[in-house]
Amino acid sequence: MRLSQFFLPTLKENPSEAQIVSHRLMLRAGMIRQQAAGIYSWLPLGFRVLKKIEQVVREEQDRFGCQEILMPTIQPADLWRESGRYDDYGKEMLRIRDRSDRDMLYGPTNEEMVTDIFRSSVKSYKQLPQLLYHIQWKFRDEVRPRFGVMRGREFLMKDAYSFDIDYESARRSYNKFFVCYLSTFARLGLKAVPVKADTGPIGGDLSHEFQILAETGESQVYVDPRLLDLDTEARQLGPDDDLAAFVDRVTGLYAAADEMHDPAKCPVPEGELQTRRGIEVGHIFYFGTKYSTPMNATVAGPDGTPRPVEMGSYGIGVSRLAGAIIEASHDEAGIIWPDAVAPFDVGLINLKPGDAACDAAAQDLYQRFHNAGLDPLYDDRDERAGAKFAEMDLIGLPWQVVIGPRGAANGVAEIKRRATGEKIELPLDAVVARIKG
Ligand code: ATP
Ligand code: MG
Repeated sequence: MRLSQFFLPTLKENPSEAQIVSHRLMLRAGMIRQQAAGIYSWLPLGFRVLKKIEQVVREEQDRFGCQEILMPTIQPADLWRESGRYDDYGKEMLRIRDRSDRDMLYGPTNEEMVTDIFRSSVKSYKQLPQLLYHIQWKFRDEVRPRFGVMRGREFLMKDAYSFDIDYESARRSYNKFFVCYLSTFARLGLKAVPVKADTGPIGGDLSHEFQILAETGESQVYVDPRLLDLDTEARQLGPDDDLAAFVDRVTGLYAAADEMHDPAKCPVPEGELQTRRGIEVGHIFYFGTKYSTPMNATVAGPDGTPRPVEMGSYGIGVSRLAGAIIEASHDEAGIIWPDAVAPFDVGLINLKPGDAACDAAAQDLYQRFHNAGLDPLYDDRDERAGAKFAEMDLIGLPWQVVIGPRGAANGVAEIKRRATGEKIELPLDAVVARIKG
């Protein structure tokens, strides 16, 4: 993509409505545009990031044997009357009436609908377990939408649901998602800590939140430092490994949110305990038969008698993650995208467009990037060098490659790693290899 043609409405000034750094940077980098409180359009740069995050989430769900479906955003109220949540959910639910006066709603979550899909077609324990997920927009009429996409009203969520014949099997499903989540967040370049949680309006018996650590997090968390080192191990585990052993060990380590923290009961010595701010990016629940009993979702067991299916649900805030990643990875100059979610792999800066040697060298590199399967953003605009550097730093691509008249004459380019600021000069034909690592 050429920057001269790219729709990138960046802002020079800090937008006054943005209270936290990720919201500021997303507006300044032209990623999103607010349409109403807590409701955003995603512009090309932001949308690329959102799609990348979604794809990592999807690949990890698939890796653990979860199957993708797509349920609608609009749901009939009757399903929610069956579970009793139509009245319980309160003002956060956006209620709609269609032209025939039927009560509808914009889904804040999908337990009822997926239970309905399940009960209409699965009748025997032999068809279990089933793990289903979708990635779909949700609406919750939050009292205080704020912090940009971090607490929106309309937001993109990955929500998965598990169906099992008994508690032991349901725990195996829960463990899969537990490990899958750690692996997903590690791939996204984040440190995520599982914290035992209240089950809230979803209800149930067992629940963990996944908090990524960043100074601006909404909640205070107290964690055993060993929880900060699980990335590699989680990424190496798959659905057929002994996940229970891993999950038991990890959940045995101390981690508590503010309201649950009890210094008297904390086994980690004060000097080692990490007191950090966290952003909730995922939440998993085991809730047994909370929905299957009232909604009559039963399966026949080995003895032929029908029993309510055991369920769990598992959410990841896909759009929240775009903001959360920036909270965890930025500096004064702008965003620093982890490689896995960067909107482009490399920014190519031509310092003197119109100069034959610069144009030729930049064009040559642009082509080499494409040939190597890299996605470049080529700044071919006739602007001041300083402005170009500042904009490239702001949008945070992992690599910058600079071509100027001196370099073009000598057949070299300057490469900068955005995360470290480290710069080196390389011959033009060595640039791709360096970036591909
Ligand atoms: P929170 O405690 O932050 O309000 P929640 O516990 O109500 O979230 P869940 O029902 O657990 O949210 O939803 C699953 C995930 O969806 C959350 O972990 C979070 O990442 C994301 N999410 C929830 N509410 C919002 C929102 N208003 N805007 C953006 N993402 C959200
Ligand atoms: Mg939650």
